[in-house]
Amino acid sequence: MATGEELLRSRGLRVTRPRLAVLAVLADGGHLEVDEITRRVRERLDSVSTQAVYDVLGALSRAGLSRRIEPAGSPARYEARVGDNHHHVVCRGCGVIADVDCAVGSAPCLDPNEAHGFQLDEAEVTFWGLCPACLSRRSADD
Ligand SMILES: [Zn+2]
Ligand SMILES: [Zn+2]
Ligand SMILES: [Zn+2]
Repeated sequence: MATGEELLRSRGLRVTRPRLAVLAVLADGGHLEVDEITRRVRERLDSVSTQAVYDVLGALSRAGLSRRIEPAGSPARYEARVGDNHHHVVCRGCGVIADVDCAVGSAPCLDPNEAHGFQLDEAEVTFWGLCPACLSRRSADD
């Protein structure tokens, strides 16, 4: 696997300690809110402002090194899994998010009947439902 330095250089980004720290946090996996990323980055670096973390996430997302998702009703979250057009399933009960592979693979995986002349490059698919934990809680309440 490429190191953080190699990833940054491959996208023409300057290698900085905050960028390396954010990449390392994202590489641990999951869909993380900025607050959580900032907390974990601070475990690695002495001082880093929330604004600096936002700036890094913006640069990484523009360079295709992180992906930003924003399910309705939830703060923006960031992940390191990029470039595979995977989708997300979100729990209506607790907000937990999981990855689901795209059945088609490449974007856009859905074609509208009428594209209004647009050249489409992505269909943002979010599946909503209840996670196993919320389901069992619910049946326990019955
Ligand atoms: Zn849930
Ligand atoms: Zn994901
Ligand atoms: Zn798909």
